[in-house]
Formats: sequence, C-alpha cells, structure tokens
Amino acid sequence: MKLCNKCILPENYSGLIMDDNGTCNLCKQNTKIDYWGQDALKKDISEIIKKNKNKEYDCIVSFSGGRDSSYLLWYAIEKLKLKPLAVFIDSGLIPKQTIDNVKKISEKLGVQLVIKKHDFLLKSIDHSLKSWVKYPEAATLTNLCNGCRYGIGKLINDEAIKRKINLVLAGGTPFEKGFFKKNLISNNQNSHISFFVGYAKLVLKNPLLILSYHNLKMQVLEYFTMKSGYVNSQDKKNLTILSPFYKYVKWDERLVNDTIENALNWKSNPELNSTYRGDCVVGIIRQFLYNLMLGYNDKDDHLSWLIRDGQISREDALQRVENEKKVGIDTLKYTFSEIGIDYDSYVEEFKKNIKKHKIKLLGDDKFTAQCLFLDC
Ligand SMILES: [Zn+2]
Repeated sequence: MKLCNKCILPENYSGLIMDDNGTCNLCKQNTKIDYWGQDALKKDISEIIKKNKNKEYDCIVSFSGGRDSSYLLWYAIEKLKLKPLAVFIDSGLIPKQTIDNVKKISEKLGVQLVIKKHDFLLKSIDHSLKSWVKYPEAATLTNLCNGCRYGIGKLINDEAIKRKINLVLAGGTPFEKGFFKKNLISNNQNSHISFFVGYAKLVLKNPLLILSYHNLKMQVLEYFTMKSGYVNSQDKKNLTILSPFYKYVKWDERLVNDTIENALNWKSNPELNSTYRGDCVVGIIRQFLYNLMLGYNDKDDHLSWLIRDGQISREDALQRVENEKKVGIDTLKYTFSEIGIDYDSYVEEFKKNIKKHKIKLLGDDKFTAQCLFLDC
C-alpha cells in the first residue's frame, strides 16, 4: 500500500485524497495550531468556577486511567492549582493495569476518587460483536463501543449535576481525530442526513446490527451525545466541559509520557507495546480489527498527526507504528474470554463470512495475531 510522503497514512485511508506528488490532503491542509495559552486557560476557568456552587471541588476531571487523563489530572493540580474531584467510569471491561493506575495516581496526587459503574457496554457487547461478524465491515466496528461513550458522558454529567460542580475537564487532544471512522460511514463529515443514509445502507446489509432494543437505543443516544460534542461545550444545565489540550495548551507526547511515568509512576497496559488506547479491553479488539480489515487504525492516524505537528519525524513514526500496533494472540483470547465469547468459534465465523461476502482484508499479515486469525 502506498503511503503519503509526508505522514504515514495509506492511500486507502477512508476519505483521503493524494495529489500527484503523493501528499495527502490532511498534510496539505494542515495549519499550525495557535494555542491560546495557559494564562487564557486559567482566566477562563476562573470565570467558570466563580459560579460554582460546590465549595469543596473546583471541577471534575474525567479520569479514565489512560495516558491523557492521567496527565490532565496532574496538570489540573500542579499547573492550574485546582482542587479537582477525579471521576472514573467503570464499564466493567477495564484492564487490571488501568484500575491500578486510577487508584495509585489518585492516592499519589491526594485526590478524592469517585468510581461510578454502568452496565450499558456490558449489556451491548455480546450483541455488538455477534452482529458485527455476520457481515464484518470496518465501518460498523464503531458499534463495538456502543454503551461506553454514552455511559461515560451520562455518568460524568450526572455526577457534576448532583454535586453542583459546573466544570468538567476532559483529556481530548487534536491528535486523535480519527476521521476515517466517520468517513467509512459517510464522506460528508458535516451532514447528519448523509451520515444517517450511510448508516442505513450498512444496516440494510446487516439488519442484525439494530435488532436488539438495548443496542439500538445506545446507537441513537450516542449519536446525539457525539453530536452535541464533548469539547468546550456548554449545556443547558450550566455545565461546561472543557478540554485544555485542544485549544489552550499544547499536548506534547514526550512531555506527557515523561510526566506520567516519572511523577505518577503510570504504567502502560503490559499486553500492549503502546501507551495509547490501552485502557479498555473492547478498544483493544476494535483497534486490532480495524488494522486487520484496513491495514491501519487509530495508531497510524495519531502518529500522522504528531508528524504534522512536528513532534516526531516520519521515520520515527514508521518505526514505531508496526511495533505499537502489535496485539498478541493471548491478549485477544483473553479479551474475548473476558467478554464471554468463544474466540475460536468467533474466528471461524469471521472467516466464513469474509468469504461469503467477498470482503478483502487489507491488514498486514506479519503480525502474529493476524496470522492466526487468517491462517496464513
Ligand atoms: Zn499525509
């Protein structure tokens, strides 16, 4: 597969346009982010929390135990001098290392930790995986996370409103846009009708996707949650959700990794070679399947944004990407067993349906797990 000559996105990256020189549109259109700065962030936060009715905490930090929210929690305390309440949302499918990080880091920073559990994901995942494999397409992999995105949004909101805290800090960054996921459904990012038509076409091919009351409900609720946006949004209940690393302060991967490893003793998921996207077992399967189906996943996307931002060289990214995308067969077997689905029968059904629907797999076959998945 031909890659862009500036980043590492392949030519089959959904929605990508390569010019005659071999440069992609994302690299060509990229402009340097003009950050508003830490002082602007402090000023805006102080305006918001002036109206805060909770006297004990300034804000909630949406804390997943992953890399970015761990850094955010540290940043809120050390740099912004805030008194945050850390809220961790447990979907029931969180790797042990992530839970360890959550508890140890809260303790180390002396932050009050609240753990909230929901079962939206646990109630969806069996149907999501079993319906997906009937017609295995990359576009519908987004459904594996049904229930999780809604659960996080809802429980964080509920906690903020219950405690009368009017500010939530979230760890999003501009380097994880993942345009391909929406493009796989609709090539018009801004049209809701186009997205709906695109999704309806996928459902016509695989009606089982919506033949579960709970899953359909989650799909609808998540669509509206995503539509309203998590970044710098303000809802009717006077709750502001703000991501400091989006527009205010530059997110620097080296600084983030150094800080969380040295100051917080943060540990990455031992099953993965990456510090990115390891904080959910479903996420691991989903990223593996994107790579198997398309030959790329969020990792290629993320590293390409870091190249465009000048944080890493293209050579670094090319070296890192293969290693960081590796998922061992044991990890996959374990994650399927955590979910309660028999891995071997699932793989058999996957192979049968790939043949039946004549779906071409673009994944690189040199990863061990993919080889076993494909019998190569
Ligand atoms: Zn590019």
